[in-house]
Amino acid sequence: MVYDLRSDTVTKPTAEMRQAMAEAEVGDDVYGEDPTVRKLEALGADLVGQEAALFVPSGTMGNQVAILTHTRRGDEVIADSNAHIVYYEVGACAVLSGVQLRTIQGHNGFIEPSAIEEAVRGKDLHFPESRLLCLENTHNRSGGTVVSPEAMDCMIQAAHGKGLRVHLDGARIFNAATALGVGADRLTSACDSVMFCLSKGLAAPVGSLLAGKADFIELARKYRKMLGGGMRQAGVLAAAGIVALQKMIGRLGEDHQNATALAQGIAEIKGLHIDLASVQTNMVVFDISGLHTTMELFLRRLAEEGVLAGPVGSSKVRMVTHKDISAKDIPTVIRIINKVSMDL
Ligand SMILES: *Cc1c(COP(=O)(O)O)cnc(C)c1O
Repeated sequence: MVYDLRSDTVTKPTAEMRQAMAEAEVGDDVYGEDPTVRKLEALGADLVGQEAALFVPSGTMGNQVAILTHTRRGDEVIADSNAHIVYYEVGACAVLSGVQLRTIQGHNGFIEPSAIEEAVRGKDLHFPESRLLCLENTHNRSGGTVVSPEAMDCMIQAAHGKGLRVHLDGARIFNAATALGVGADRLTSACDSVMFCLSKGLAAPVGSLLAGKADFIELARKYRKMLGGGMRQAGVLAAAGIVALQKMIGRLGEDHQNATALAQGIAEIKGLHIDLASVQTNMVVFDISGLHTTMELFLRRLAEEGVLAGPVGSSKVRMVTHKDISAKDIPTVIRIINKVSMDL
């Protein structure tokens, strides 16, 4: 038995998804003729309180199509210095949109509204145009932390007040909504665009949605085509996405409970340090400095015992709970982490 906790992206599609994929009604989606894709897009737009949505192959493409659609070359985009779009998207903003990223140090996904306002450029021959604020909820590099509706409102108001648009990287927005006990739309409807993933905790094999106003999505559809993301009988994939949205959101709370149980077990292990307050959704990040070993060796020993995890920086390990890890697996995983930590 291997407990794969590297990410929630490792989740396999459910039997119901495979069934829906096999039976999906399809057409050529580039011609706008795939009824299953259309259905997924309408469902997704509705869930996040937006007019329309666009099915894209990945979260990265969703974010990058959003930035292409909102900006012009030479514009400035404001983002948290630990944002996924800054860290993990291969420098795409510079290559594809030709924009300049202005990063601000945030805290668990929250950027001080005054810092947003101060970063916005005034009128000056020398300055780029400040065009867009990018937010992220849950915040990946902070360990899946949640940004509250009130905090979202403050940041969005600061940006809108200065004439900026707001894009939300909501790859795990339903984890945030579940943790906060609100509808996802409470976190997303005031944004100008939002991207969310179907292929992470929601367990679809492929795909994300980009949502926004109808005219924004119309233009975004053109940029998706430009990037090579126009897919043909994509209803086969969208069918799994529909199951993801209808059946998988309701169980995310289980992943959060499992993450909390895992974190509590890790807190008891000598040599490991964890900030329990940072465990808010399905991610557990802990520090191994106290073991006086290397990251490589720690992760290799864990893997040899059947637990897969990933590094965040040089001293922190990340484990992500998901639907293919059950509550009864957690004590076993804790026992293995304990054994490896004692042996090192
Ligand atoms: C996973 C993720 C993405 C990108 O999704 P891919 O489908 O892997 O391209 C974007 N933003 C955040 C916060 C993510 O966690």
